Amino acid sequence: MNYSGIKYSDMINGKGIRVSLFVSGCTHRCKGCFNKDTWEADYGKPFTQKEEDEIFLYFEKYGKTVRGLSLLGGDPTYHMNVEPLTELLQKFKKRFPDKDVWMWSGFTWEQLQEDPKRLALISLCDVLVDGRFVLEQKDLNQKWKGSRNQRVIDVQKSILDGKIVEYV
Ligand code: SF4
Repeated sequence: MNYSGIKYSDMINGKGIRVSLFVSGCTHRCKGCFNKDTWEADYGKPFTQKEEDEIFLYFEKYGKTVRGLSLLGGDPTYHMNVEPLTELLQKFKKRFPDKDVWMWSGFTWEQLQEDPKRLALISLCDVLVDGRFVLEQKDLNQKWKGSRNQRVIDVQKSILDGKIVEYV
């Protein structure tokens, strides 16, 4: 898995102060995409043990103020990212159980349910912003999403209720 950047002390992508990891690879090709470079899976640098250690160390050092980890892209649910991110989140959740995980996917919640591997990945998240960016529905006044079709989903409540519960 490649990544294009890691943003420490990010206050834009999710609630509170966060660490945001931008992974490469996306098949959605949304019109007006703000990050076209990241469509290619080989864009950026390989995400290695070094990067993982740096992220984990950051949470150890600044855990009192940092609220959680955000995964963006590209698309974290791009097929080549699913396995490495599942492994990363399993370790992250074990080590930092009080931190939350937010993820942005170009697939809808319904589409993600159809793929067991993707479902396993999003099950490790607390919040999912789902769906493609639709230029015609662009609305920058909405929090954490770029277009009105997207939803900010409370993942754990949605799994429990068996229907989408929006995050508030
Ligand atoms: S899902 Fe995101 S990264 Fe992928 S094309 Fe759409 S806006 Fe761009």
